[in-house]
Amino acid sequence: MRCFPTSRESSASSYHRRMGSNDRCLFCRIANGEITARKVYEDDDVFAFEDINPQAPTHVLIIPRKHISSLDDLGDGDAAVIGTTLARAADIARNLHLNGDGYRLVVNTGEAAGQTVFHVHFHILGGRNFGWPPG
Ligand code: 5GP
Ligand code: ZN
Repeated sequence: MRCFPTSRESSASSYHRRMGSNDRCLFCRIANGEITARKVYEDDDVFAFEDINPQAPTHVLIIPRKHISSLDDLGDGDAAVIGTTLARAADIARNLHLNGDGYRLVVNTGEAAGQTVFHVHFHILGGRNFGWPPG
């Protein structure tokens, strides 16, 4: 017997296709409201939310709405969306008053670097001092 998607699944899938998102991706699902997160900022291009397991007094994740698995998967047309994401990260850091003392942006890329969610994201970390080299 063939199995057809329910109308809800079908409309969610067409939404994902329109937004360039992936319906099995945790961060795509957070960005489109299917999974709850503490939103910090959103616009047509990016979504920012608090990390569920903060590593600093302020720990925000910012993602492009477009599903890109990692920096290693950037396509020819992705420079603008990554540039926008970076610029919005700096805006968010300024709005959270992290710019005075300083803050750190981190993009873990691939498993050896500790990437666990394969939708490209910038960690915005602030509110404490950070060591170098990083762990
Ligand atoms: P990565 O390890 O890929 O660089 O970062 C993934 C981040 O996503 C981790 O810091 C982790 O705590 C966070 N994270 C994983 N699952 C969730 C979730 O369901 N909600 C939120 N808000 N953050 C999550
Ligand atoms: Zn995604």
